Amino acid sequence: MELRFSAEDLAFQKEVRTFLKENLPAGLLDRSDRGLHPLKEDIVAWQKVLHNKGWIAPNWPVEYGGTGWSLTRKYIYDREYFLSGAPQTISFGLRMVGPVIFSFGTQEQKDTYLQDILESNTWWCQGFSEPGSGSDLASLSTRAVRDGDAYVINGQKIWTTFAHWADMMFCLVRTKSDCKPQEGISFILIDMNSPGVEVRPIVGLDLDHTLNEVFLDNVRVPVQNLIGEENKGWTYAKFLLGNERSGIARVARSQYQLAKLKQIAGVEHQGNGLLIDDASFRSQIARIEIELKALEAMELRYLSQEIAGRKLTAETSILKIRGAEIIQAIRSLTVTALGPYGLAYEPDDVFRRRNDGPIGPEHLHGAMADHLYQRAATIYGGTNEIQRNIVAKAIAG
Ligand SMILES: Cc1cc2nc3c(=O)[nH]c(=O)nc-3n(C[C@H](O)[C@H](O)[C@H](O)COP(=O)(O)OP(=O)(O)OC[C@H]3O[C@@H](n4cnc5c(N)ncnc54)[C@H](O)[C@@H]3O)c2cc1C
Repeated sequence: MELRFSAEDLAFQKEVRTFLKENLPAGLLDRSDRGLHPLKEDIVAWQKVLHNKGWIAPNWPVEYGGTGWSLTRKYIYDREYFLSGAPQTISFGLRMVGPVIFSFGTQEQKDTYLQDILESNTWWCQGFSEPGSGSDLASLSTRAVRDGDAYVINGQKIWTTFAHWADMMFCLVRTKSDCKPQEGISFILIDMNSPGVEVRPIVGLDLDHTLNEVFLDNVRVPVQNLIGEENKGWTYAKFLLGNERSGIARVARSQYQLAKLKQIAGVEHQGNGLLIDDASFRSQIARIEIELKALEAMELRYLSQEIAGRKLTAETSILKIRGAEIIQAIRSLTVTALGPYGLAYEPDDVFRRRNDGPIGPEHLHGAMADHLYQRAATIYGGTNEIQRNIVAKAIAG
């Protein structure tokens, strides 16, 4: 592995660290620290700060508003970003549909959407999964039928994160049936205010509302909202899912959460001593720490291969599998560290409205909710079983 940071890279690292320290809003950091989802207005305001700095879209080409950073700088930026405790910027516009639009969209689509994505003026959601189509996404059945200058869309999407906040949804629809499932899918952009779009909430295990069902009932979508060619949507979806998996190991985020766990164990009691001094608890922390170090080494090895010009394939699946398992282990152990208080969890809005003070220590709030939300880390973005299939195929052919 050949990976060294130059003096310029180290100066850049310092600049990022200082900027984040001076600009990350305390309220946003507090929620992120606890593992709570950011409030919409807070994350939008924060993304605007990053946009003004010119750092909102490191993965976009410079001509569309990207940073022009090398792979090493992107790595440094991501690492510093998550070590600062900042919450992930919202992926749907910046990491998913934005790159699809600048890679496959018309000039009109680029002019209409890209600047608003960079400025976080438009909130996007992802309408891929359906009740009968998750891992087997190509079996989707939401149908779009051409009618003059519009497509008429009928069907249902599910698990649509933040659809209740969204202005626009990028959506996979079936435009042809008498062919291989992958060859009859189109990629289309739907205005969430169109007549016939209905969003219904799904409250998660964490008692928070991030997930939704989206019902589409005779929704008319102008043909100019089609991305690329009709029936070629699978190609654009695969491109998008490839981007979704980048940065998926979440090493720095896990390192930050692990440090938090150690802090909690440093004040929680076990018998007559502190939890952090308990041999059995220490060995559980050590095990996770070793696994995280191994994941970090693996990520760096892949990065150095990418810098040398090699294209990663199944490696991202390996990073996703291990990254998700480690974050789950950390959040589960955090709840354990809280002892009986770990069992008590309230929806965030109830917690905020209590006037008799929080149940248990202040650092309790959010731990159980995040532990439960992270159960989904091995499901979204392609389940760990599907990732293992990808790895197996890459190895066994
Ligand atoms: C928190 C969260 C947020 C999400 N946000 C979005 C979103 O914004 N937009 C969106 O479109 N979707 C979203 N999803 C949906 C997500 O992409 C799907 O849940 C995921 O692809 C799995 O699909 P499924 O739920 O239909 O499960 P299924 O595909 O039915 O899988 C059920 C189980 O069977 C296993 N399995 C299935 N096929 C195989 C196979 N071939 N080999 C081995 N095991 C298999 C799976 O691993 C899983 O354990 C989200 C999901 C969650 C949990």
